[in-house]
Amino acid sequence: MASPTIGIDLGTTYSCVAVFQHGKVEIIANDEGALTTPSCVAFTDTERIIGEVAVSQAVRNPENTVFDVKRMMGRPFSDPTVQEEMKNWPFAVVNDRGNPAIKVEYKGERRQFSPEEISSMILGKMKETAEAYLGEPITDAVVTVPAYFNNRQRSATMDAGKIAGLNIRRIINEPTAAALAYGLDKNLNGEKTILVFDLGGGTFDVSILKISSGSRFQVLSTAGETHLGGQDFDNTLVKYFADEFKKQHKKDLTESRRAMRKLKAASEQAKRTLSCSSQARVDIDSLYRGIHFNCSISRSRFEKMCGELFRRTLDSVEQALSDAKLKKSSIDDVVMVGGSTRIPKVQQLLEDFFDGKRVSKDINPDEAVACGAALQGAILGNDSNKLDLIGSVTLQDVIPLSLGIEVNGFSMMKMLERNTEIPACRSEQFSLGSDKQTSAQVKVLEGERVMTSDNNVIGEFLISGLVERPRGEPGIKVTFDVNADGILRVSAVDTKKSDNVMHITIAESNGRLSAAEVDRMMREAEQFREEDDALRKRVNVRNELEGYVIMGLRTVDQAGDDASEEDKKTARSTCNEVLEWLEKNRLAELDELTYWLQSTKEKLSPLLQKLNSGDGSRQYTPSAGSMH
Ligand code: ADP
Ligand code: MG
Repeated sequence: MASPTIGIDLGTTYSCVAVFQHGKVEIIANDEGALTTPSCVAFTDTERIIGEVAVSQAVRNPENTVFDVKRMMGRPFSDPTVQEEMKNWPFAVVNDRGNPAIKVEYKGERRQFSPEEISSMILGKMKETAEAYLGEPITDAVVTVPAYFNNRQRSATMDAGKIAGLNIRRIINEPTAAALAYGLDKNLNGEKTILVFDLGGGTFDVSILKISSGSRFQVLSTAGETHLGGQDFDNTLVKYFADEFKKQHKKDLTESRRAMRKLKAASEQAKRTLSCSSQARVDIDSLYRGIHFNCSISRSRFEKMCGELFRRTLDSVEQALSDAKLKKSSIDDVVMVGGSTRIPKVQQLLEDFFDGKRVSKDINPDEAVACGAALQGAILGNDSNKLDLIGSVTLQDVIPLSLGIEVNGFSMMKMLERNTEIPACRSEQFSLGSDKQTSAQVKVLEGERVMTSDNNVIGEFLISGLVERPRGEPGIKVTFDVNADGILRVSAVDTKKSDNVMHITIAESNGRLSAAEVDRMMREAEQFREEDDALRKRVNVRNELEGYVIMGLRTVDQAGDDASEEDKKTARSTCNEVLEWLEKNRLAELDELTYWLQSTKEKLSPLLQKLNSGDGSRQYTPSAGSMH
């Protein structure tokens, strides 16, 4: 019989491996008997160490103990996430031809490793763990990644597998794996909407998925925070204990890295204890300057100290719901994933939020993702007759931030809204900003704000050789096309000259935003929501006014011969006066704009009615916006 396909959860802080065997999933313990292994690799004069042992020697060897590499996977060195995270890492990260590389000393030599190589060492350890348990060589694996990982991050994960000598049969999304583990895909007639709440060691991810016909998993939305998780709760405890130490011994231990590291390890242990007991104690021999430290903490105190952090998770839940345009009552199941959801208070907050709905707890949250990966492995490994799982899983992703182009010369017109499923495509007809214009700059934007300058310009191209047309007349067709791999293609064509097509292709990894930036932009959009709403109203009234007078000018141009010259002249000058005013007052206030709109309509509408009466009213299709 062929060897099984294992499932690996390659986590930011902890990794886990599982296999489907004898009709069920088994989580495989490592050589220390633990079911999860820290995603940490250390280099010394004599050896390379992976997992818990690497963590425990970190105090003595901080520069050569590498962790958190998942945050670097598939990102260029210049990526703001890499630049930001680097500041906090005790190991050195350098620029290796545009990519980050980790610099360490290993066996007395300076060595450089890519994030893929470090990840491959962790994957290798998981592979060995499985081999030791199964007693045979293993090559096939399913590996999980966060739902928001882009192509580059996914292929970097693939590469890490290759280096480790693994044949990665498939990369699947972590929340999908968790849903598979809970069997939420089974006995499904129709559709089910689930929310996956994944609070791990350093990151917090909320995903809403739709499962239909048992095999189609669609990611409806993702939200979360790149820095919220177990480590924050550990740090809260460290601070508390350090303060207690100061009170008891009048000494500040925070200046000693060694003492802090010891205290951190003890705090994490205490935190885990508090998930099942109401009290925990730290007891550390010679913590600082030979002082023995002994202190206890109650669960309720811990809950109070971390209360705000816990509560914050609900903001992301709300965000994911609103992005998916769902009410909480339409969530059929809530799935808890990640070691930190073992904290009773976190479970309770979520249960209360979902009005007492029971959250799934029958699988260990830190094992659920690996468990789902192993199930997927069994499906791919032709073990499927033993499983009542149907076929393979196809996944659908969404656009993380809205995409659009610049109109009016200053504002963004959204072509594809944030969280639209991909593949996605939309075309609109745009007009030109002035009469004699024969070229236009197509500025491709990403973001949620009203003004171009508040969004991210991800690409730009010029379309020239356009047929001259009156200002405001639609006819430049712009198409946004995002394929299943998340690659955006924007094209523009003059509908009167269809051989004149210009286009640009923008890959997710190239210029598009990282998850951390998406976070930042969403926060900004939230912060400026009121301001932006007001701005949007102004832009809308402005567009209406501009569209109205442009329509007016066209009516004058096309008026029948019997129309009064006097009327034509008055109408034309009224329109031009408005256009001139608009040009000079790009960002006029709302009340000014509303006043102009009203008074212009009062003045023009009787005139236009007369001018129009010749051959009945003309169809006027407004453009989606004007390009400059
Ligand atoms: P990752 O973020 O790498 O996916 P996990 O989901 O395994 O990792 O979560 C690891 C985090 O879970 C760590 O911060 C760990 O301290 C925490 N954790 C594990 N078990 C418990 C527990 N019983 N109570 C509270 N926190 C726990
Ligand atoms: Mg995880």
